Amino acid sequence: MSDKGDPDLRLETIEALSAAHDVPVLDLLMIAANMHGVDADVDIPRARIRLSPETSSEVWQIILPLENPDSPFRLAGGQLRLDGQKVARIEALENDDVVLTYLRAGGRSVTLNTNSRSNCIGCIFCPNIIEDAADATVSGVDGLESVLTWLCADLDWPGLAQVEVITVCSGCFHTPAAAIRHMAELRKAAGRLGFTGRLHLLSSVVRDRDDIKRLAELAGPFHLTFTLECFERRDVLLKSTKASLTVEETCRALDDCADLGVLGDFTYVAGLDSLAAAADGLERLSGCVTAFPRIQVYQAHNDLMRRYRSADAADLRYYIDLRRRVEPALAARGLAPKSWENYRPLWYERFAGEAVAGPRI
Ligand code: SF4
Repeated sequence: MSDKGDPDLRLETIEALSAAHDVPVLDLLMIAANMHGVDADVDIPRARIRLSPETSSEVWQIILPLENPDSPFRLAGGQLRLDGQKVARIEALENDDVVLTYLRAGGRSVTLNTNSRSNCIGCIFCPNIIEDAADATVSGVDGLESVLTWLCADLDWPGLAQVEVITVCSGCFHTPAAAIRHMAELRKAAGRLGFTGRLHLLSSVVRDRDDIKRLAELAGPFHLTFTLECFERRDVLLKSTKASLTVEETCRALDDCADLGVLGDFTYVAGLDSLAAAADGLERLSGCVTAFPRIQVYQAHNDLMRRYRSADAADLRYYIDLRRRVEPALAARGLAPKSWENYRPLWYERFAGEAVAGPRI
């Protein structure tokens, strides 16, 4: 198999793996599409795609790299094909640019890129370098209130009382103090519009117990996701502020979160580490989380990025093995994935023998 993809991957292969390992065909198809990307007839590098798979009665959202001519997946004529066979109908497709704000779960979840995520570089797997950007740095209570007021007006919402969670997705805070200040300002701004739900931050800089405590006090109820991403080659694959975060430190910080009433989990990119390191690390961390971790299949946008994929992860069985190792540890903590929280997960239709909850978008 070349590192550009497996041009010989067949639907029959996926069906055989599905039967042998009791994993839904849809789950394996989506994981494979994330792994390989797509050879597409549109001239954009990366797309948000809504599709109706042949094996499902639902519409799903997936975000895929579109520029791999060696992929076994072909997107053309409103269809996604594998080895020439139609596997899904395309319902909608748009450029995956970095926007200031977007909704999930029908508006129950609002995501903000209020700290210029598009300007952040340094992690090998990050699509920022190829995406168009329409985000900006917004700060101060009044500035954040303006963005949220514009959002409400655009959606014809009277306020934010019905929103359950607001997530700030940013790796760009250079210090814990900057992250805490932004989230405290956001709590005040959103509160002016009736928001009483949970604030959620994805970050690697807030790690110390005292900082987590301040976040809970100034911005709670709170959910903190540690952007750990991988276990091996951290100095090579990650920007330096992230690379210094260790598994031990993350476990200790997750314990602090649980102790302080803050939901805690982590991000992980499946496909960068050897299978042994990935499975051992994920099992260990799964014992510390209080929210379902954001485990995302590694997507490569070019030959350089493809070279950083672990040799183990060129085979679909890598992802099947990871699922089998991680499911019991997370299920034992009463945790399960929600489709709308992650558009490139290891689980689509089934997790630990149960259906994965929707909505899908
Ligand atoms: S921290 Fe890394 S993954 Fe996050 S936005 Fe910056 S470069 Fe991308």
